[in-house]
Amino acid sequence: MDEMNQPVLRISRTQLIKNITAVQNRLAPSTLMLIMKDDAYGHGIDMVADVAQRQAGVSLFGGYDIATSLQIRSRVEPSSRVFAWATSDSDEVEQALRAGVDLGVGTLPYLHRVIAAASITGVTAKVHLKIDTGLRRNGVRSEDWPEFVAQAIAAQHAGSIEIAGVWSHLAEASDADDDLAAEEFRAAVEMLRRAGAHPTDLHLTASAASWWRPELRGSVSRVGAFCYGIRSADGPELEGIRPIAALTAPVIGVDGDRAVIGIGAFDGLPSTLSGIEIGTTAGNRQLQRIGVTTSELAAWPGATVGDDVWIFGPGHHGEHSATTLAESIDTVGEEIITRLTSRVRRVIGD
Ligand SMILES: *Cc1c(COP(=O)(O)O)cnc(C)c1O
Repeated sequence: MDEMNQPVLRISRTQLIKNITAVQNRLAPSTLMLIMKDDAYGHGIDMVADVAQRQAGVSLFGGYDIATSLQIRSRVEPSSRVFAWATSDSDEVEQALRAGVDLGVGTLPYLHRVIAAASITGVTAKVHLKIDTGLRRNGVRSEDWPEFVAQAIAAQHAGSIEIAGVWSHLAEASDADDDLAAEEFRAAVEMLRRAGAHPTDLHLTASAASWWRPELRGSVSRVGAFCYGIRSADGPELEGIRPIAALTAPVIGVDGDRAVIGIGAFDGLPSTLSGIEIGTTAGNRQLQRIGVTTSELAAWPGATVGDDVWIFGPGHHGEHSATTLAESIDTVGEEIITRLTSRVRRVIGD
């Protein structure tokens, strides 16, 4: 495929550093765990890991699955820590232990798997125990917590695991629900302490709650979206936070009153976006049809092959961010960026 016909996602290192710094300042003294699932929300793990570590001083990373976490691990300094919380098979768990990846553990069978992997590898597993505080996705329910704690403490005494943390995930459906969840969380930590463990990494909040609900922050805050400049759908603007990526597509043909641009559904552009206004050198124009690899918008005087149009993000034209686009089709900004395929060329700049 001719590169000149491809859409481009331009990513700003400087803005990434600014966002991470704004998040760190806002959360302090809680430590940022930079969440990097889905290829660092579509921006690329290697670049984000390098910039975050070297230029923003991040030393705690969250990779979701073990494969992602191993990639981060290989990219960052040995003294940094990487957390993987997806339940995985024994092979992967052993790889994680050998590489020094911390594991989130939210079921008794998985605790047993981690203990077995520790015995096979001879590595003490650093684990963060997960209490279910209402989301019912994964995590030990409060009625099962005492037994889970007892087995974890026994494994710690045996040297198989080190209980490094306790964590949970908030539903963020209402402040009242989150308050209750936080209470359950604190009770679970307290029980673990009484049983003789001293977890230092307590984490409950993601972007929105970390930013807006300081009283819910633990010693660690897991933040992805806001660091990439993706605000919450229907949420307010965030001081010091801006989108770090702009998606442009080239004009590849002009046919009367239509301009054909080189981006389509195969690039990850949701076809439900047809009808939105996007930025051109002459102001906004309506995106009239989204095809497979090309789309059409209303032409403008002087429209020329090779011109760029702005689908979203900072630039000279266009008003959309990934989040405003998402809002127009009832989804979230993360969804817009992470579904962009590898056909979209990533260009890293200052
Ligand atoms: C994705 C994720 C986060 C980060 O959420 P953001 O809203 O992007 O900050 C935090 N914790 C868990 C468990 C997640 O899956």
